Amino acid sequence: MSEVPRFWRESRHRYRLVGTRCTNCDTLYFPPRVICPTCRRESVGKMKEEEMSGAGEIYSFTVVHDGLEQFKMQIPYVMALVKMKDGPFVTAQIVDCSPEEVKIGTKVTATLRKVRSEGKEGIIQYGYKFTICP
Ligand SMILES: [Zn+2]
Repeated sequence: MSEVPRFWRESRHRYRLVGTRCTNCDTLYFPPRVICPTCRRESVGKMKEEEMSGAGEIYSFTVVHDGLEQFKMQIPYVMALVKMKDGPFVTAQIVDCSPEEVKIGTKVTATLRKVRSEGKEGIIQYGYKFTICP
């Protein structure tokens, strides 16, 4: 986490992986939902925020060779569909590895990383990515 400026370290709650659980049918959703698509009206007032553990495994992945401008330094990179231990699926970049290390079923963990910086003021955006568990 050393590359993360102090402000963001102190605002960690902004970047927790938080989903919402429908306490009517006990399903966890990420990204968070206001209403459960299964229970609909019965879920009103029963959706509770829940932080996910960050642990998951690779369900499927794609190696991307032609990058968007902001990813030029990182080609090729891996985008994966991660099945979280807590249930939901999350699409994110897998970092700190070569594409050959990524396999279906590989255990990964969520990490906060710089997504891109833009503009003259260099506004830096952070988001979650995944790293392979040692
Ligand atoms: Zn529900």
